[in-house]
Amino acid sequence: MIGAVSPKSRIPCRSVGPCGYARVEFANPFRAGYGDNVRIEGVTRESGRSRRVHEREMPRRETVKPKGGRAQFILERMSAALARGRHAEASRLFKEGQSCRAIPADEHLFDWLGKSVGKRGTTLLVRAFAETPCFFCSKGRESCERCDAKGYLGAAMVCEPCLGLGTTRCAYCDGSGWVGVDYVPAVLRLQVLTLRTKAAIERLKALVRQPLSEPTRRNCRTSLKQNGGALLVANSILGTFENIITAIRRFDQLPPKEESRANTLVDTCVRTTTRADRYVRETLKRMAVAVRFMAQLAARDSDEQPLAASRAEYYDHLVGSDHYSGTFLDHPFLREAVSQAQEGKEKKRASG
Ligand SMILES: [Zn+2]
Ligand SMILES: [Zn+2]
Repeated sequence: MIGAVSPKSRIPCRSVGPCGYARVEFANPFRAGYGDNVRIEGVTRESGRSRRVHEREMPRRETVKPKGGRAQFILERMSAALARGRHAEASRLFKEGQSCRAIPADEHLFDWLGKSVGKRGTTLLVRAFAETPCFFCSKGRESCERCDAKGYLGAAMVCEPCLGLGTTRCAYCDGSGWVGVDYVPAVLRLQVLTLRTKAAIERLKALVRQPLSEPTRRNCRTSLKQNGGALLVANSILGTFENIITAIRRFDQLPPKEESRANTLVDTCVRTTTRADRYVRETLKRMAVAVRFMAQLAARDSDEQPLAASRAEYYDHLVGSDHYSGTFLDHPFLREAVSQAQEGKEKKRASG
């Protein structure tokens, strides 16, 4: 039964329950009754028993009526999602509230937040948006289309965009794994970016604390895999920084206090990029050693031997390169910000 859900508010989500029923749920914050939000799509059990099982499974119909208007109802659902740490759900409910005009989407939002959710609620909401994952990938990664996730293109040709790993960064979130800043309400953007910067720095600290896997003849394959994984995490941090810098550059004129905060964020991202870059080079060095061992261990006339040798050469080339052009590690806007900061420092030194 579909009920009176308006087509606009239907966001279908298909799920199969333990009884074998496939059902479609519609996310509609104004209708919480089971019948209104669920359509039974089909039955995979024997038809004789199916209806009884279904009835047993059906929760008692609740008629939850919005108290204090739509905004209040959305707020209640949103608070419940936030309390459970369901950040993506909380941010989605907020966006739904804005699209149906229960929550203001303009400059009045800031006042509305103060009155409706208070300081603590706003902090939780900022966190929800900061931690809403990208809708197009998992953790900023996707299979490399160029090599069909194999890591190579020919007998001795390593796939450069994915560095032979078969996995590359997501094109939508730049490998950061977070939803784009355009999804975040304008008044919360700077706070969301501040939180993401802090989280990325903490992530880098945790990454650096873990010693890199040292390749040996025995563990070269495992070590390559571990270092490749570390490289993808480091890239996710670099992607986060690049997104933050490009988002700040697209901001409209900010009040002086906020502008100073935004500039501090850019400086922090640039400074931490240098540290992350050192980590990336150290990882690539170990990957080169690992594939050299692989080349030594491979049979002379096998396909693996020339591929591993060319891979080692390629990693060595990347370690010595200014940037990682053509690979998922290349972040041109971040690179530009770093060189601008260096030029600024040199000018200061020359004039001082
Ligand atoms: Zn590839
Ligand atoms: Zn993504």
